[in-house]
This record gives sequence, structure tokens and C-alpha cells, in this order.
Amino acid sequence: MSTSPSNALRKSGAKRPRKAAPPTAPKVGLVSLGCPKALVDSERIMTRLRAEGYDLVDSYDGADLVIVNTCAFLDTARDESLDAIGEAMAENGKVVVTGCLGVHENLIREIHPGVLAVTGPHQYETVMAAVHQALPPAHDPYVDLLPPQGVKLTPRHYAYLKISEGCNNKCTFCIIPSLRGPLASRPIGDVLAEAEGLAEAGVKELLVISQDTSAYGIDAKFPRQSWRGRDYRTRFLDLCEGLAELGIWTRLHYVYPYPHVDEVIPLMAAGKVLPYLDIPFQHASPSVLKAMRRPAHQERTLERIKAWRGACPDLVLRSTFIVGFPGETEDDFDFLVDWLEEAQLDRVGCFKYENVAGARAQALDGHLDEDEKQDRWERLMEVQQEISARRLARLVGRELDVLIDEAADKDGVAVGRCYADAPEIDGVVRVADGKDLRPGGMVRARITGSDEYDLRGEVVTAD
Ligand code: SF4
Repeated sequence: MSTSPSNALRKSGAKRPRKAAPPTAPKVGLVSLGCPKALVDSERIMTRLRAEGYDLVDSYDGADLVIVNTCAFLDTARDESLDAIGEAMAENGKVVVTGCLGVHENLIREIHPGVLAVTGPHQYETVMAAVHQALPPAHDPYVDLLPPQGVKLTPRHYAYLKISEGCNNKCTFCIIPSLRGPLASRPIGDVLAEAEGLAEAGVKELLVISQDTSAYGIDAKFPRQSWRGRDYRTRFLDLCEGLAELGIWTRLHYVYPYPHVDEVIPLMAAGKVLPYLDIPFQHASPSVLKAMRRPAHQERTLERIKAWRGACPDLVLRSTFIVGFPGETEDDFDFLVDWLEEAQLDRVGCFKYENVAGARAQALDGHLDEDEKQDRWERLMEVQQEISARRLARLVGRELDVLIDEAADKDGVAVGRCYADAPEIDGVVRVADGKDLRPGGMVRARITGSDEYDLRGEVVTAD
């Protein structure tokens, strides 16, 4: 749900690309907004552009054309996307729009009539056709400039692995199924081959993403494919087993608590998959979950969490919640807070309910005023901060593997993450005496302190 631009173009001061193509190569800039799924779309577009000999630049004035990959999950994201298109039009003038906001072509053209083309999410071919028309590729495609793992927007040591597009659920606050269509799982052989390529290119952490990761393969009826001489089915457990073969970190995002999720917990307990589950519960009150039409809302989640932790005591659980959903009573909210106290989740993000144009929740009765939503948000965050601080404090004194993201600052403190920390959304581990540590390095660190979000540690051994 993040909408922050991941590689917003600069207005001036063009920087030369690290691997510059010949001077005749047409130059394209890309602004990528939205969630990790959109980020992967951007990476695919960039990969295609590089494969065809386009030069990727990071400033508006150095680009012959700019692609804006938009988000429309919330109205605020839609406004941010429209602003980004406006900025690209003002600073460059040749703009192709893609991504989730692209389904509202009339709106985009009404506000920004000069855009060259508008396409929807994961319409790579249409984006490339629009680029070809406005900015034909150079004669020589420079295929040799393309690394086998494609072009990535994330640092070299971690990568998002998108296993499917779209969603079969019908959550009333969400328009993603109408934007991205029904669930379409990628064949398991393709996914594992991509993961293998990333691992060979130096990636040390794979972040598995989709709209509904535990539903992987349901749409295709779990077809089989062979990888490294073994038969795998296109389904959640086989995916985890295959990724475990790579010997790097695998982190699972957007998992719903369907019963078959229990099957991957032993892999976590055995250290083959990170003991980390990102489960967007969104609420706990049965009546609110029903009004939200959440998947797996009837599962006995507290019992499941207890059983998972019994089988894998290190398990870290991350979730997001929405407060102030239409019809949420004070009792519903108290139920949620009690549930959180019981569940003791490690990491929690919370959003105030926002009306999204086109979402069915808009038509529900009982919309709350903004003050009430704010009040509930503050109360929930206060409760959760104490829980998170308690959960992190349990790690003090332990020795953990830490993947370094940032080299040391002037005080010698490097920044990394342990198994409990997903990039961008969770906390970090600040490693003292880390002046020799480099991004992508893995160190064994003793955890020496903690607060509500982050850990502090010291190096035991470095690789
Ligand atoms: S699971 Fe629900 S919230 Fe998530 S993409 Fe599907 S419909 Fe939207």
C-alpha cells in the first residue's frame, strides 16, 4: 500500500548511467509509484527497455521520454499519481502512463490531455508499443548490456519475486481485482528459474509477493513442472520447498491464514524459509471482517497463531489493520485491541479507513468521522507499540544473522536487517563497529538492545 516513488526522476543535474549505452541510444526515464507488485512491473518494463537498447536515465532533462507507473489503491495514491504525471509533463513533456491508474484513462486525459499513451497494470506489450511509436529503438539492440536476472530497482542483495497477478477475492474496501483482474499464477518452473537466476546474480533475500500468496496455483489447478530434476506443483508448499533449495533467505508476504499455511511452518522451524509471515488481517471483529468480505475470515486465527508458535517459537508475524471501517462500533474496536493483546503480533501497520472511488464499502452505512478514526488509530498504535517493544526485547542477547543494507556512518554504525525485518516496512538492526561492513554482506551479530521498532547489535563474525 506504500505509494512513495521508488526512483523518482530528478529535475536537473543528470547523472550518467553506470553502464552507458552508445550516445545514439534513445533515453527513457521511469517514475515508479505504488506497491512492490507495481515495482516488479517497473522492473519488467526496464528490463525490456534495456534489452531493446534503450538507455535508462534518472533525470527529466536527460530523458527523451518518461514512463510513469501509477498507483490507484487509495484516493491519496491516485492524487499522487496524477501529480507525478503532471510533473513529468511539465519537466519533460513526452509521457507514457501505465499502472493501476491507467484504467481511468478518461480522468488522466481530462487532467493531462498531452500524455502520449495510457495503459493499465502489467500491460508490458502496450507500454513497449507506445514507447516504440514515440521513440523508436536504436538499430542495434545492445542485448549484451542486459544482465541475465533483468534490471532491478531494489539493491543487488534483495529482490521481490512476484508469483501471480490479480486476485479472486472481493474485499469491499479494495478495487485491485477490478484493476488487475482475477488471480493468474505464474507456472512454478518459471518462478523457480527466476529465483535461481536472482540467487546466482548475488541476491541473498527473496521477498515473495502477490495479492494472495497462499492462493498460489488455485486458478490453474496446481499444474506440475520440473525444476532441477524434481517435480513441483504450482502451489504454495511446493513453492516454499523449491525456494528453500536455493540456500538464501525467503520471506513470505501477503499470506492469508488458510489451513494449508500450516504446512510451511515446519520449513520455517527447520531454517529453510525465514520464520516470518506477513498476514494482512485488517481486523479481528467477526462483524467487521464479514463487512469487509475478507478471505479466510472464519479461520480461528488466534488458535492457529498459537499452534504456529508452538511449532516454530521464533516465528515473527507482521500484519496490517484498518480502523474506522464503516459500521465499526466501539465494541468492534475493543475486540480488535483485545485480539491484538492476545495475538502479540511482532509488527503492525495501521491505516485509517479511506473511501476509494469504485469500492463497494463506500455504499455501506455507518461511516465514521475523521476524528473518530484518528482517535482509534492512535489508541491502536499505542497498544501495539508496547507489544512490539516487548516482542523485540526477546531478541536481546541472541546471536542472529544480519544482512547489511547500508555501510557504516561516521560513527561506525552499519544498518542491516535480521529475519524479523522486511525491507522498507519493518525495523532495522544498527550494528556497532561496522566500518568494514558493506551492503549485501551477511554478519553474525549479538543483539545488545532494542526499542519499539529497531534492534542494536555488535559483530560476532562477518562473512
Ligand atoms: S485480497 Fe482483498 S485487499 Fe487484497 S487485493 Fe484481493 S480484494 Fe484487494
